[in-house]
Amino acid sequence: MKLFYNARFYSMKQENDSFAAALVDNGIIKETFLTEPDISNVEKIDLRDSFVYPGFIDTHTHSFEGGLYSLGADLEKAATLKDVFSILSETKPVSGKIFAFHFDERLVNEKRFPTASELDKIFPDTPVILRRIDGHSSVINIKAAKSIDWDKPLPGNFNGHLSKRENGKAVNWFHRNFDDESILEIYQKAANIALKEGHTTIHTMIGDGHSNIKHYELIRNNLHRFPVEFILYPQITDVAKALEAGSPRIGGCVLADGSFGSHTAAVLDSYSDEPGNYGSLYRSSKSWNNFIQNAHKNNLQVAVHCIGDAAISQILTIYEKAQKDKPKDLRHAIIHNELTTEDILDREKNARVSVIMQPMFDRLWANPNGLYENRLGKERTLRTNRLASIYKRGILLTGSSDWYITKMNALKGIDAATRIHNKNERLSAYQAVEIYTKNAAELSFDENRLGTLEVGKQADFVCLQNDIFTSDSIAEIKIAAVIKKGCIKIQNEGN
Ligand SMILES: [Zn+2]
Ligand SMILES: [Zn+2]
Repeated sequence: MKLFYNARFYSMKQENDSFAAALVDNGIIKETFLTEPDISNVEKIDLRDSFVYPGFIDTHTHSFEGGLYSLGADLEKAATLKDVFSILSETKPVSGKIFAFHFDERLVNEKRFPTASELDKIFPDTPVILRRIDGHSSVINIKAAKSIDWDKPLPGNFNGHLSKRENGKAVNWFHRNFDDESILEIYQKAANIALKEGHTTIHTMIGDGHSNIKHYELIRNNLHRFPVEFILYPQITDVAKALEAGSPRIGGCVLADGSFGSHTAAVLDSYSDEPGNYGSLYRSSKSWNNFIQNAHKNNLQVAVHCIGDAAISQILTIYEKAQKDKPKDLRHAIIHNELTTEDILDREKNARVSVIMQPMFDRLWANPNGLYENRLGKERTLRTNRLASIYKRGILLTGSSDWYITKMNALKGIDAATRIHNKNERLSAYQAVEIYTKNAAELSFDENRLGTLEVGKQADFVCLQNDIFTSDSIAEIKIAAVIKKGCIKIQNEGN
């Protein structure tokens, strides 16, 4: 038995509900106390005046890519191509390849991507991939270009830059051929990063969106190794394979459309900066219908990547049909749900669809003259990332990072959710914490086990040095400790 004391525990059962100490046995909360109890024969753990919340849950990450790229080069802070090259020259290969990510050509002085031959100067014999911040394009060197089995030959004037299919093909090639130990090392790295930022559970996509889920079994059989819980999504549309793997869910960033940055998100009205361009729906409704109806019939929870209103509507129509034919509590999800109309939100509510969203997208792209205004215009920018409208309707709304696209950092997400650029779409701090705790637990049907702090639930705690509910700089709050199933995994100095 352990007694955790000297803290304010927010239960997250309802607003303002808190207690002062918790008795934990075997990883489960046995009793909670409004004042510190006088009991002996227990191990007493001093939480040093911290503020305790249910361990954060990130409901959408690409942990393999995130972990892999954390072992590679992070180009986020590069201001010039010279910086890029100097960071690259200090990067060690993983499994014989060099990985670099978070490159944004708009943020380097030269306003361009490096070229294949520039990369070759540093790495003549090692394949290099440098991925753009949104993951939808990349640059590779000549060594890599020569190693990849292209569907059709690259153009004679090839400079290393890839988008669309070729980008997918290259990424796929780079992510292949890892041995089991390296794969486990990559997920271990992901778990450690998650823990450091206060998460005790993270949802992760496994596979490349097509057929490959070979990591699934490996990770599932090794779940006990990691300091956080992984909720796994076989990222495929092959229902038989998901069932065979014993998964209760299927999908992830299987793409109904692309991204706003690359004008490939499918929109009902054309792009403001490219009139006549409506983006693209990646698959026909017929093929989505076959996949989703089959999954629904087999009681699999489905998740699909939808950014634009046209893509959301396409998938929603099929969820609606599945629910109408045979209503089930499967909590089918729309990931991103970025651009919506009133009608779409009402339909999501009626079809009992859940939405997995990224408050940081608003922080990054909804600023005046930012990406959204550029692509969608001012009026439509107001209809992006509509957290409050969604929350008010009672749609199951969860928070996430889409790591590696944004940092896996729930406090940053909570902060962004309370400061959505459109004032009408802001969540209160309490609601924002809910989407990373209580609601997140519901998404994976874990509401009886995770997401709130109460008797009978798992003792997963994130202990903070300041109180989220009274702070005006939530993103800056320091993590004091992270406790998973009653065991201290991280304890920081100070306070
Ligand atoms: Zn994703
Ligand atoms: Zn996605």
